[in-house]
Amino acid sequence: HAKQSGRGRYSYFTAVMSERADQRLRLESELRTAIAEGQLFLVYQPKMLLPERQLSGMEALVRWRHPDGHVVTPLDFIPVAEETGLVVAIDDWVLREACRQNRAWIDAGLPALPVAVNLSLARFDPARIVSGLAQALGSSGMPAELLEVELTESQMLTQGDRADQLIRGIRALGVRVSVDDFGTGYSSLGYLTRHRFDAIKIDRSFVHGLPGDAGQKAVVEAIVAMGRALEYRVIGEGVETEAQAQALLMLGCNEMQGYLLGRPLPASAMEQLLRDAVA
Ligand code: C2E
Ligand code: MG
Ligand code: MG
Ligand code: MG
Repeated sequence: HAKQSGRGRYSYFTAVMSERADQRLRLESELRTAIAEGQLFLVYQPKMLLPERQLSGMEALVRWRHPDGHVVTPLDFIPVAEETGLVVAIDDWVLREACRQNRAWIDAGLPALPVAVNLSLARFDPARIVSGLAQALGSSGMPAELLEVELTESQMLTQGDRADQLIRGIRALGVRVSVDDFGTGYSSLGYLTRHRFDAIKIDRSFVHGLPGDAGQKAVVEAIVAMGRALEYRVIGEGVETEAQAQALLMLGCNEMQGYLLGRPLPASAMEQLLRDAVA
């Protein structure tokens, strides 16, 4: 009897698992098509200076317009793309498209603000990324100092020496590098002094509890103090309320990003925001 129910459970799990494997394979092949057939597009999330409430830059975030009509979030496909290595092609496309778009905005007389792209370190070859960056800058004619690369703290830490090599290569191009989702890694802080970063982005999990949560407030305060001492800009992510923005300002944060300022915008809406910034 026990054996039977055991076997029942076993076949149930294999069924679920092979369904998952099928889904994964399907997703992988759909993603390949998506890259090849131009189903990816970018949205842009503004960053703002905290005291002035002035547009200071933007982050390009990838989206996938699935043939079934849905827009798929990167949270649902970047992990599979990282496992399969497809993420390299996705990040490369994002980089080129962000440079092309930013250059087009500059050529149209709009304010030249830095654009940030996210780069996965799950599968990477430092030399290839650096030459990809140089190529993207060269072919778009975008000034290097207007490009910013966001690397997550946790991926930098797991990649060790290879990440160090990559960061040095990126910095040598004059491209900015910032630390994304700061505070969620392994709190090994040596890398912060080994490189000249441009900014530290405080993970939104620490911003969430502001201003009420004393613990989160203390963590944000400590990150700001450290960032300041190292002369890095400190950006609060995931700011959804005016109270959170006020708290970040009080704690000395330089910039913010979050739904309070707006959801990530299609290129046309981001362009309007840039026009409004000039007016
Ligand atoms: P991230 O780089 O930390 O980007 C911030 C994410 O938080 C974005 O989600 C953004 O929409 C979301 N967000 C912004 N403000 C708020 C807020 O006020 N509240 C809340 N709850 N969320 C907010 P998104 O666009 O879904 O991207 C998720 C993650 O996917 C990104 O996190 C990044 O790690 C990754 N990603 C996005 N685009 C790319 C890409 O082109 N390449 C790679 N490798 N990863 C990417
Ligand atoms: Mg980011
Ligand atoms: Mg982030
Ligand atoms: Mg994140």
